[in-house]
Amino acid sequence: MVAERIFYKEINKETSVFEHAFNNNLALLLKGPTGSGKSRFVEYMSEKLELKQITVNCHEETSATDLIGRFMIKGNETVWIDGPLTLAVKEGHILYLDEIAEARPDIIVAIHSLTDHRRELFIDKIGKSFKAAPNFMLVASFNPGYQRGFKELKPSTRQRFITLSFNYPKPEIETEIIIAETNIIRSDAEKLVKIAQKIRNLKELGLTETVSTRLLVHAATLIQSGLPKRLSLKIAIVEPLSDEHDIVDALTDLCNLYF
Ligand code: ADP
Repeated sequence: MVAERIFYKEINKETSVFEHAFNNNLALLLKGPTGSGKSRFVEYMSEKLELKQITVNCHEETSATDLIGRFMIKGNETVWIDGPLTLAVKEGHILYLDEIAEARPDIIVAIHSLTDHRRELFIDKIGKSFKAAPNFMLVASFNPGYQRGFKELKPSTRQRFITLSFNYPKPEIETEIIIAETNIIRSDAEKLVKIAQKIRNLKELGLTETVSTRLLVHAATLIQSGLPKRLSLKIAIVEPLSDEHDIVDALTDLCNLYF
């Protein structure tokens, strides 16, 4: 059986940017809202370049130790266990730090010497340095702080990465993505995209995050699986976006205009 290839619809030359970044040993930052295809793009590129990818989903407890490695006790011995960054550096993989701004600041110090000409990782706990293997590449994602409650990345960190910007795709492209992901009929995919555009323009709702391509794919998946359409939209789009009754009602009414 032939394994299914990862589907990714290119938006604006990002495949070529990624290849140039990889060939020139540049670290790459993908910035853009949640659900806009950043992670899917990295998976697609890893497959295209035939590289192994290690993903770290960063959260507020993620520290340099989690990336680099730690001593563990095994029987009556203490052994050093490489973390994902060390493994990727030694073996030459893509390390994807998803939501890098969420992690503790010490991880920035850890990746410092890997994001410049040195391409080297120094591990003070074992007193060793490792030159990155040729295929090692650092990719990170970041959700810019134009909405409330999101963490920022320091300018000095930003300057260590070349940066690709992601956003929700044009209606025709977003429709194609939803169809390719779920096999939903075109007229329904088009309606979902219209709803998304309306909600994205309703700034007065004050949503922390708006409808992403991911939410549209979820709604289309439920519709395809046979759940009633209005219910699919309610639970895949409306409820994830807000907990306020007035807003939930307004969004439900809007969806019901189309389905
Ligand atoms: P992010 O990492 O930006 O939060 P994801 O990469 O997880 O977002 O994308 C969420 C979902 O949206 C994917 O699982 C996929 O179904 C869909 N998607 C978004 N953009 C694209 C694209 N350009 N090509 C294919 N699928 C996409």
